[in-house]
Amino acid sequence: MSRRRQIYEGKAKILYEGPEPGTLIQYFKDDATAFNAQKKGTINGKGVINNRISEYVFTRLSHIGIPTHFIRRLNMREQLVRQVEIIPIEVVIRNVAAGSISKRLGIPEGEPLPHTLIEYYYKDDALGDPMVAEEHIACFGWASNEEMQDISSMAIRVNDFMVGMFAAINIRLVDFKLEFGRIWDGDYSRVILADEISPDGCRLWDMITGEKLDKDRFRRDLGGEEEAYQEVARRLGLLENDGGPSEVFDLTKHRKLRGK
Ligand code: C5P
Repeated sequence: MSRRRQIYEGKAKILYEGPEPGTLIQYFKDDATAFNAQKKGTINGKGVINNRISEYVFTRLSHIGIPTHFIRRLNMREQLVRQVEIIPIEVVIRNVAAGSISKRLGIPEGEPLPHTLIEYYYKDDALGDPMVAEEHIACFGWASNEEMQDISSMAIRVNDFMVGMFAAINIRLVDFKLEFGRIWDGDYSRVILADEISPDGCRLWDMITGEKLDKDRFRRDLGGEEEAYQEVARRLGLLENDGGPSEVFDLTKHRKLRGK
């Protein structure tokens, strides 16, 4: 078998050339980093779980009309995606105060925000991903005003959908990060959702106990990160043979079992 060409290696993923032009293979690693890679470690099985969770969320988002780069999952750790020109902005959506906003503005963690906030961070590791205003994005040409319109309206739709999706499995969606990319069709381009959606880039708290089910377990040395990621996948009904209440009821299987 010929070796695939590696296009890019990030902190948690590797991108390889895809089988057709305009496609890439996104490989999910177990590596975990925090605080701009000052803290490094691994979370066993994280890549496998994030691949599944991200497939699930992107598929559901496409069903409500959000254009995404996801094409299909290939195996345990890889998915086929559309190649995009990444817009160098991290879009953070917040429903509840936590993390950097609590630190920066002194708002206690867990306090619901009066309304959903969207923040933008310029993707630059050397600068530590500084927060920027829409004016900076336009001024330096990182994205056009039209693209920012599309991005903010998609971000709100994604948030509304995900808040409900997680609430249904007793998880509070505190905040999360999205990335978008451009795809070109001749002289025209449009913006689609890219990257991944997983507990690596979301704050997910158990609705009843407040237990953290996301990367904060790693960032804050709380332990139990593998179990937390698994719990999110289990509640979404993504773990096989879990038999839990979140598993989709399969009528055909049920009839067979009852011999009908
Ligand atoms: O650290 P902060 O509170 O700004 O993070 C907000 C949200 O964005 C968190 O859910 C975090 O996981 C996510 N995030 C991310 N990648 C970054 C920065 C933040 O996934 N580089």
